[in-house]
Amino acid sequence: MEHNYLCPKCRSNLNLHHRIIFAVENEKKERGLMLLDPRLGHYDSETHPGYHILEGEKVEFICPVCHVSLAAPEKHENLVKVIMFDGEKKEHDVYFSRVKGEKCTFWVAPDGLKIFGDDTDKYLNYIK
Ligand SMILES: [Zn+2]
Repeated sequence: MEHNYLCPKCRSNLNLHHRIIFAVENEKKERGLMLLDPRLGHYDSETHPGYHILEGEKVEFICPVCHVSLAAPEKHENLVKVIMFDGEKKEHDVYFSRVKGEKCTFWVAPDGLKIFGDDTDKYLNYIK
């Protein structure tokens, strides 16, 4: 099942054509667009061939509609937050790492925290 995602600030839909679309900014302050897989625990990402983000870079994720940063420093400076609509149209918070190459997603589900990826240990204490 594909989940739908919303910007927490303007509540625009971020899904398009089976991907989630973000505006992003790398550590050189160069902006571009990034597509992510909407399936939790899938970490394929696409950017334009002319736009580069290096492994380990901290990427600024920005809503492509309202241009607000999606950073979630109230949890951890490396985490980003979006809102997920599940199949029953209930809203849940989803956090993921903004560090290129890190596999780390937290879904704050109604029946408890769901954890995806190999790099969640370093953030787990900040989410609980
Ligand atoms: Zn927005």
